[in-house]
Amino acid sequence: MREVFFVIGRGGAVLWSDAGDSAAALPDTRERWDAIWRLRGEIEELAHSHPGGTAFPSAADARSLWRGCLHLIAGLQREHTLLAAWWHGAGGLLPLPIAEQP
Ligand SMILES: [Zn+2]
Repeated sequence: MREVFFVIGRGGAVLWSDAGDSAAALPDTRERWDAIWRLRGEIEELAHSHPGGTAFPSAADARSLWRGCLHLIAGLQREHTLLAAWWHGAGGLLPLPIAEQP
């Protein structure tokens, strides 16, 4: 498993994505930040995974995730996937409820 990152636009369209070389980390890259900046007017959410981890933001996430944006984090476990939504605003990363469609 590798850690992955997606830039999501309207209608759930994947506007850009990249993946790390391992499950342990997805290093910051200039290409990712350039893509986010270029697509900033179209971004609905940013999503990334934590293979083998939780759906809580890591310390690196708290420092580096794009502000003023919805973030989805998937914690990929062997038995199940944990999914959490976060708003990264002026007050830091705040958890958002996820409603299931009827
Ligand atoms: Zn993360």
